Amino acid sequence: MTERLYFRSDETVATACVTRCVEENGQWIAILDRTLFHPQGGGQPGDTGWIATSRVLQALQDGDEIRHLIDAPVATGDAVIRVDAERRSLHTRLHSAGHLIGYVVQTLGHRPVKAHHWPGESKVSFQTEPGVALPDADALAASLAKLIAAGMPRVAELNDGVRTVGFGQLPAYPCGGTHVARLSDIGTVRITAIKEKKGQLTVSYDVGD
Ligand SMILES: [Zn+2]
Repeated sequence: MTERLYFRSDETVATACVTRCVEENGQWIAILDRTLFHPQGGGQPGDTGWIATSRVLQALQDGDEIRHLIDAPVATGDAVIRVDAERRSLHTRLHSAGHLIGYVVQTLGHRPVKAHHWPGESKVSFQTEPGVALPDADALAASLAKLIAAGMPRVAELNDGVRTVGFGQLPAYPCGGTHVARLSDIGTVRITAIKEKKGQLTVSYDVGD
């Protein structure tokens, strides 16, 4: 089992122990006792970075283990691990903005069903409530800006292996992703498209400074 340091830490540098390094189908894979690397999943891309001097190209979850795909083998034992902080920050802001969009549109009456928080293609999908108006892009952006300006702090809890994340008094959701420490760290959210097709509403968005 890999301990997930990113569940309780925003650090991007740490020391961890490389417990295994194996080659599978020409790809080197490192397993650590604990990691800062968020694996791809939950609508969020995996982190990249470095283990010692090897590049981490991708982090993937496999059961309760996190597998780090690396460009060159690393020795077992203690190593400095470093997450690409800039890339992580963008993913974290996009993912946190997705939480907020889910919350605001849900208060309008539509049910969030799916989220994809990848740069350039971020979107949250909802099952529409019949008879309820679709959100207006400008009004939605204004609601988001108001919440972001309030800068509510992240509230993360881990109980029996289940992690829930919310902001301030807003409802918390079960989530394994990475989140800003306070909503003001998101910056601005731009709604790029609102589409409805056969009862599914899709809100596409991007974040800026
Ligand atoms: Zn989340």
